[in-house]
Amino acid sequence: MAFVRPDFGDALPLVASGKVRELYDVDSKSLLFVASDRISAYDVIMQNGVPDKGLVLTLITAHWFQYLQKQIPNLKTHFLSLDLPSAVPKDQMSRRLKGRSMLVRKLKVFPVEAIVRGYITGSAWSSYKKTGEVNGKEMPEGLQESQELPEPIYTPSTKAELGQHDENISTEQAAKLVGEKYAKRIEDLSIQIYKTARDYAKEQGIIIADTKFEFGLDEETDEVVLVDEVLTPDSSRFWAKSTYKVGQGQDSFDKQFLRDWLTKNGLKGKEGVSMPEDVVEATRAKYLEAFKILTGKSLEDTLKELK
Ligand code: ATP
Ligand code: MG
Repeated sequence: MAFVRPDFGDALPLVASGKVRELYDVDSKSLLFVASDRISAYDVIMQNGVPDKGLVLTLITAHWFQYLQKQIPNLKTHFLSLDLPSAVPKDQMSRRLKGRSMLVRKLKVFPVEAIVRGYITGSAWSSYKKTGEVNGKEMPEGLQESQELPEPIYTPSTKAELGQHDENISTEQAAKLVGEKYAKRIEDLSIQIYKTARDYAKEQGIIIADTKFEFGLDEETDEVVLVDEVLTPDSSRFWAKSTYKVGQGQDSFDKQFLRDWLTKNGLKGKEGVSMPEDVVEATRAKYLEAFKILTGKSLEDTLKELK
């Protein structure tokens, strides 16, 4: 059954609704971050969702927060708990929220998407072919499509409003947006987190070609904090290590069925599209597989442990 946006009335006011998540105000310091089953492809949200996708996104994120915090001891994240706040009534809905909700610290989010690329693909590949540069940085000559870069690069973009497209910007432009004081920390953390995750995922059989982080500011301590979802199939390009081949485009781990089906049926970029059952199921299977590969456990077992 598709997940429906919960309404808690005044107990937990809805403060924002993004492409995938609903954010509810818990108190002055925390938010309930609820991942729905909505899915987008080519920047358009499908009419129907992929059952359990929100669980996969939230629990992969929680897994990474735990792992990263062990590997990078001075890393701060917005993660508080996977428990539901007491303001959520204990009914059928609360059971459905378990695992897809995360209590997080409410922070001022820096207005850049901190993108890190370990492999050259997508918009970076298009730019490289035209100019030899990516986000204004010169790249080595003779790179092939999907090739691993000698070192991961930081290629920030703006955070566009709903319905708008993010724009790639230079590191200098990003520094103007977030303030010189925080820019270097955001860049350094992004690269460090990417490298840590890349090595872990590769061992398990997934190539994280690139990914997007968001950071917030803890105004009390003046620290840069990792926020939002991290290293999920929605915020990253995951490729299967077993089928990776340099010199060509790679199948995205999760959305390939959906994108292929949209293209084949002339629906690419169209609004209001409903996915047929087989596309939903194939996509769902991929999200579950990513979960299993990255966390080493089935979603079912992980959910049981939460109860
Ligand atoms: P965007 O394009 O702005 O990322 P989105 O459609 O991806 O939006 P969702 O992922 O659905 O948005 O919702 C998450 C929203 O919550 C994002 O706008 C993100 O910047 C914001 N956010 C993430 N972590 C925090 C936090 N700790 N405090 C406040 N806002 C946060
Ligand atoms: Mg988002």
